[in-house]
Amino acid sequence: MAYDKNNIFAKILRGEIPCEVIDEDEYTLSFADINPQAPVHILVIPKGAYTDWSDFAVHASGEEMSAFFKAISRVAELTGIGKTGYRVISNIGPDSHQEVPHLHMHVLGGTPIGPLVVAKG
Ligand code: AMP
Repeated sequence: MAYDKNNIFAKILRGEIPCEVIDEDEYTLSFADINPQAPVHILVIPKGAYTDWSDFAVHASGEEMSAFFKAISRVAELTGIGKTGYRVISNIGPDSHQEVPHLHMHVLGGTPIGPLVVAKG
């Protein structure tokens, strides 16, 4: 899938749409999810134009990958869920119901999150 420069997260990265920034570095931006599914629900995104995890895994540089992994961990510490625990989820493609075609990791915590997702059918 070609990258859509007009997706919501691309607009957030360009400063065209506001967000509640939690953390930022050269390669990543982390912000609060607008429709939180847990007391802590943060989205971690790379600043580069990657549609999803598979695109990132194939095309991102080592520096970008390293920064992305570290940002997820840092966000957990910054939001106080590093010790209590949290879940990291990324939706990829139609069956996952990925809504925004820019790679993002959901970081969820602040309460027991429950069992891992159960697929129907
Ligand atoms: P996904 O279904 O994995 O693509 O998740 C997209 C996520 O982006 C959802 O959890 C939305 O609540 C969230 N979202 C959509 N628009 C915004 C926005 N403007 N600011 C913050 N989060 C957003």
